[in-house]
Amino acid sequence: MLELNTPVQYVKGIGPKLAEVLATKGISTVEDLLYYLPFRYEDRLNPRRISELRPGEMASIIAEVRGSALLRTRRGPLFELTVGDPTAPSLPERPSSQPGMFGAVRSSLKCIWFHGAYLQDRFQPGQLLALYGKVETPKAGRARLELINPQFEILHGETPDSAADSLEIGRIVPVYGSMADGKITSRWFRRVIHGALENLTPDVPDAIPAAIRKRMRLAPRREAFWQAHWPPENASLAELQMARTPAQVRLIFEELFFLELGLELKRRKMRALPGIAFKIDKRVREAVKRILPFHPTAAQKKVLKEIAGDMRQPVPMRRLLQGDVGSGKTIVALEAAIIAIENGHQAALMAPTEILATQHYLSARRILEPCGYRVALLTGSLDQQQKRDTRRHIAQGNAQLVIGTHALIEEKVEFGNLGLVIVDEQHRFGVMQRMKLMKKALADEEEESSANQSSDKKSSVTGETPVLRKAPRSDEKEDLQPDVLVMTATPIPRTLALTLYGDLDVSVLDELPPGRSPIVTRRVSDERAAEVFGFVRKQVVAGHQAYVVYPVIEENEERELKAATRMYDEIRKKVLPDLRIGLLHGRLASDDKEIAMRRFQRGEIDVLVATTVIEVGVDVSNATIMVVEHAERFGLAQLHQLRGRIGRGAAKSYCVLMTGNKISPEGELRLDTMVRTTDGFEIAETDLQLRGPGEFFGTRQAGLPAFRVANLIRDRELLEVARREAAALISGDDVTEAERSRALVHLRSHWQRRYGLVEVG
Ligand code: ADP
Ligand code: MG
Repeated sequence: MLELNTPVQYVKGIGPKLAEVLATKGISTVEDLLYYLPFRYEDRLNPRRISELRPGEMASIIAEVRGSALLRTRRGPLFELTVGDPTAPSLPERPSSQPGMFGAVRSSLKCIWFHGAYLQDRFQPGQLLALYGKVETPKAGRARLELINPQFEILHGETPDSAADSLEIGRIVPVYGSMADGKITSRWFRRVIHGALENLTPDVPDAIPAAIRKRMRLAPRREAFWQAHWPPENASLAELQMARTPAQVRLIFEELFFLELGLELKRRKMRALPGIAFKIDKRVREAVKRILPFHPTAAQKKVLKEIAGDMRQPVPMRRLLQGDVGSGKTIVALEAAIIAIENGHQAALMAPTEILATQHYLSARRILEPCGYRVALLTGSLDQQQKRDTRRHIAQGNAQLVIGTHALIEEKVEFGNLGLVIVDEQHRFGVMQRMKLMKKALADEEEESSANQSSDKKSSVTGETPVLRKAPRSDEKEDLQPDVLVMTATPIPRTLALTLYGDLDVSVLDELPPGRSPIVTRRVSDERAAEVFGFVRKQVVAGHQAYVVYPVIEENEERELKAATRMYDEIRKKVLPDLRIGLLHGRLASDDKEIAMRRFQRGEIDVLVATTVIEVGVDVSNATIMVVEHAERFGLAQLHQLRGRIGRGAAKSYCVLMTGNKISPEGELRLDTMVRTTDGFEIAETDLQLRGPGEFFGTRQAGLPAFRVANLIRDRELLEVARREAAALISGDDVTEAERSRALVHLRSHWQRRYGLVEVG
């Protein structure tokens, strides 16, 4: 008998070797294997007849090979396979109810693979195939149908007769993603998973309490596994494809339930910690007002009020500030910092790049030093002596606001009296990663080392081990947790925010500061480069500045792309020799980056040639042109962030998206979206649709849990139910103590395995 936690190598058909391969894909136990669900299902119970196919539909059919040919065409070799309805006599004769749309009844079909030479020797006449693909007509009005590049499986040894005990035919068949460059096939998974299910212990533990199972009408877990892989005959294909059969819903709910349960516990645990109750009296309010270089918007006022409300409370603040690019998050952060400072505490502001940290430092000094506050910058590029001095200032509490990159915390900085941590441009991180970051930032060393034993180290935010420590103080009775404010420019739908930031309270800056004129966005073919740069020159002559962004730093990265370094030379020497040109990219020495940034900020550079390093946060309001070359190569979120660098002043701004001629349909959609709207929310939605949540949130590098069965977009409403039920588990009275603790034990092992966060609950 197999238990859920039995290592996969004991499943029939998997030896130690294959187990190793599977392990690299996160499949190491029977349970992992069972969570490897099919990505689609084929109806091979009632396969369609060729005569029933209609152009434009996605179809799966069972057919027999009639013949094949390799054709040489101008576009390269083209492999053509002719197939027909299976001829086996035992296949029930069905009247071709609808004679072909065009009169004659079709009985054969062509399958075409471009560059299909590799398929030449794969097929023999008489072989039975399962085919899946889009049905097309080569020319309108013709009766002939084709499948272009269909997916196929050769049904070895299978005949329509053998359907009774076959895993390949005569039922709804699961289709799995292949692995190891196609060496581990869908067919292999079918056999192995079927075998694992047959040998699975009858007693599959279920950690979801009975009351919740009943309320949600959840199928038993064992049955759910069976049916999600091998649907019963009467299952609805449409529901299966949309992951809405009871079996699938059960597995999805379970995954979301334990995610939400973990988040809820973290939230409660955090709320139970002692925090600093900052005093906000008239004096503090005056101090906050004094630093303001402009009138805050209504949205900024509202958000500051929410933050101040949190800071007053004796529990640690954990708040997310969401605001589109240019909505003015920085000043709100500085206001919060003043509250902490006026209460005798220090504040830390962390940015994802050195460029942004430096820029924050410069503007914080401009705003705060006239009012007598002391600001320090700590980045990796300071020399040892400077670092030591700065660290001493921080430890002694001289530096009131400390600005740095996330590496700031890796430098083992000790704060004299840290009260507030602000994390800027957090949109590059997901919830799990942020939790780690926060935990590491705030943990004392003891907790850190014990937690690390079992957490997966490599997935920490930067690969380093950041620790923000408080210097030991004798006068403090208990260790008060600093407040944390996280800022992000990614607007996301509310339900998603609840989960991604489930451990945080959310504030939204939904208004742009006044006096901005809208940005004009244009798509231009790169053949018109001369014209574009002529326009850049005109703007510069009128007193403005420009960014020109390239997708790569150096030529050799991708041959056909223009690179920042070469174009910098070309623009400087040939295109705009009369203007002052600067270069900024991630691989420059820190000093050079800083110099370029400062000079651009001071207006000593007219045109800044850059890569996407300028994507986050860079703020130069005199810059009115953003030229992006090879714009089709950039993601939507990236383009939106880049465009957010302009339109920051009163002068009209222009975003020019230059493209080559080869653009994918998705690329077209991205560019169209950019031209159509500047609304970050709309852009994020489109991006989400285009890329799916995994990519959108950058699952892997963002540390968002890689869901096994759930999909944050498709399963939004289940997510909310799961959230509610997770809260019910903790405080509901229809759950027994035994059930509660069983669920929590499961949660701990589950979270530890999946996310490497051990201290839940
Ligand atoms: P983001 O939210 O993208 O971080 P910033 O904080 O960099 O935005 O602000 C963008 C620009 O708007 C900055 O130049 C800032 O000085 C300016 N700004 C912010 N708030 C206001 C306001 N209330 N009135 C006028 N300008 C503002
Ligand atoms: Mg910003």
